[in-house]
Amino acid sequence: MQIGFIGLGNMGSAMALNLVKAGHDVRAWNRSKAAQDSVPGVTLAKRAADAFQADAVFTMLSDDHAIREVILDAGLLASAQPGLTHVVTSTISVAFARELELLHEEAGLGYVSAPVLGRPNVAASGQLNILAAGRADAVAAIEPLLASLGKKVWRLGENPARANAAKLACNMMIAMAIEAMAEGVVLTESVGLDRADFFELILGTLFSGRAYESYSTQITERSFEPGFKAELALKDMRLATEAGNEIGRTLPMLEAVREGLSKAVSAGFGKKDWSIMADMTIRDGDSLASSESNPEKK
Ligand code: NAP
Repeated sequence: MQIGFIGLGNMGSAMALNLVKAGHDVRAWNRSKAAQDSVPGVTLAKRAADAFQADAVFTMLSDDHAIREVILDAGLLASAQPGLTHVVTSTISVAFARELELLHEEAGLGYVSAPVLGRPNVAASGQLNILAAGRADAVAAIEPLLASLGKKVWRLGENPARANAAKLACNMMIAMAIEAMAEGVVLTESVGLDRADFFELILGTLFSGRAYESYSTQITERSFEPGFKAELALKDMRLATEAGNEIGRTLPMLEAVREGLSKAVSAGFGKKDWSIMADMTIRDGDSLASSESNPEKK
């Protein structure tokens, strides 16, 4: 099967490599050249349009804007190989997923929303959870490919926007977990309880979930290399807010974590892991000027 791949960032490079390892012929395009060279075994596409000359093409660009610019504005749907299925694994807005579904239908192409749960190390080990939604025939056509990227494909029905809403809800809830742990630390450290001991307590009793396990370690170690960049997480909180607005709802906890991430990005931490938000809360928000975390602030 000939596969195209667009966007070889932290996630995309790991995913493209797994498709190569599974024996597929992958033709990949990335805006900057350095990233293309980082994935052995892929054939480099000169133009993004070349990646659309395939049976299936994956897109792992950062956001709605990048997909619109690289794919829609450049007319790639009109020149795509007939019968192609386009799999968008980026975290995009619910509204944009609906627009993509419609545009692919008009162009006679398959479209599947397949955002993923898992950070780049999880992508590298082929252990992603993949939230897939789209027409049954389109999902069936690419399911063997998804199997080489993740440990489980969660089929969420024929409406692609469902997968995107579910992904945004998951990220919103992880951000809330990060902030919840930070606020717990504020209270417990104020009376001298070590944060590692506090996390051992909560993980062993009430909060044994994956998000708490993984981010409590980062908060304890103050290790904020991404991972998932704060600027992308802020994008997701904005998209979740927009999805809420579409149905006339404001979600108060979402507002709080969006504000926290916005402060982190404004303070110059956009390229750090999103768990830096916890550090800001613990160190009293704006007072954070941690030289080891932000060299620009030395
Ligand atoms: P990343 O490392 O920043 O990669 C972003 C990719 O998009 C790069 O290939 C970049 O190209 C490309 N890009 C951005 N703007 C572009 C434009 N205007 N034109 C052309 N190319 C453009 O991000 P990532 O961490 O891989 O995340 C990618 C997507 O996966 C995002 O939607 C993110 O929300 C989602 N996601 C991330 C994680 C995670 O933990 N990192 C987990 C699940 C889902 P250049 O190399 O040229 O900059």
